[in-house]
Amino acid sequence: MGTEAETDGRGVDPLRCAAPRGRVFGSILETVGGTPLVAVPRLTAADDLRARLLLKLEFFNPLGSVKDRIGLALIQEAQARGEIVPGKTILVEPTSGNTGISLAFAAAALGYRLIVTMPESASIERRKMLRLMDAQLELTPAARGMAGAILRAEELVASLPDAWMPSQFDNPGNPDIHARTTAEEIWTDTGGEVDFVVAGLGTGGTLTGVARTLGARKPSMQFWGVEPAESAILTGDDPGPHGIQGIGPGFCPNTLDTSVLTGVIPVSERDAMAAARRCARIEGIPIGISSGAALHAALTLARREDLAGRTIVSIVPSFAERYLSTSLFNGLI
Ligand code: PMP
Repeated sequence: MGTEAETDGRGVDPLRCAAPRGRVFGSILETVGGTPLVAVPRLTAADDLRARLLLKLEFFNPLGSVKDRIGLALIQEAQARGEIVPGKTILVEPTSGNTGISLAFAAAALGYRLIVTMPESASIERRKMLRLMDAQLELTPAARGMAGAILRAEELVASLPDAWMPSQFDNPGNPDIHARTTAEEIWTDTGGEVDFVVAGLGTGGTLTGVARTLGARKPSMQFWGVEPAESAILTGDDPGPHGIQGIGPGFCPNTLDTSVLTGVIPVSERDAMAAARRCARIEGIPIGISSGAALHAALTLARREDLAGRTIVSIVPSFAERYLSTSLFNGLI
């Protein structure tokens, strides 16, 4: 079993640092993935958890989120298929979130121009990060929301001579990269001793991909999606505004295969924020808001008496710092 105790004896120093990577990376692109699975001993004790809870820390990716996997994969795969050419094709994607930042680093490192369309309400730190990596921004009216940004991206693709849209909500390469990387990492790092995976549903790519690989390998495994309680469409409610960025797009995307899910747990913005703050305070792991939503759901499972001794992996898509201007930080200073 790949437990935390096993880090001993792998060339680890007395400070219990991770082992050296033993290689030089050819570019930043090669550093995507291979994120650590980390136990939460203090939350486990405080909540008297019955199950073993592990966090998959996707903020260890180079640009700080789970989206680095698809930012790289969608571009590289289209290039391998000959659909796009560096220095020629312009990439266009509507996104106000982590996907834009992840596409921007991959586009820069591979030599593509990128135009990101987003509502003008998108946070200033995101806009600045995109500009830093030379992405071009097309801001659309805040009142039109993401629909306005999608429309503008479609107009651009139609009007430019050689433009291509990665289309994170439709591209099968999205769940596929998680099936090939995220799932395999979870399997290898736990030695197959994993019973539940909990993840927030945005495009649904992460959980769909993970469930496809691990569910086929171990049919008893359960895969729980998490959506905002304020926009719980998969649970049968109406879409609505909510503050859990990255999940709950308000529709069921093509990249989400609900047939592989065990169920969907609605989590309120309030509970998501509380879990995220608690994780920072008690474990020293400052996680994002959607990570807090998944953690809240995972803790509910991990407290169950009937799940004693099982292993639950909760996906942590991003780091708290990406939400500096949100209410995650309200009332702290
Ligand atoms: N949380 C955050 C912060 C995200 O950026 C995303 C990706 N939109 C998710 C959760 C959900 O991941 P997925 O799109 O693979 O469902």
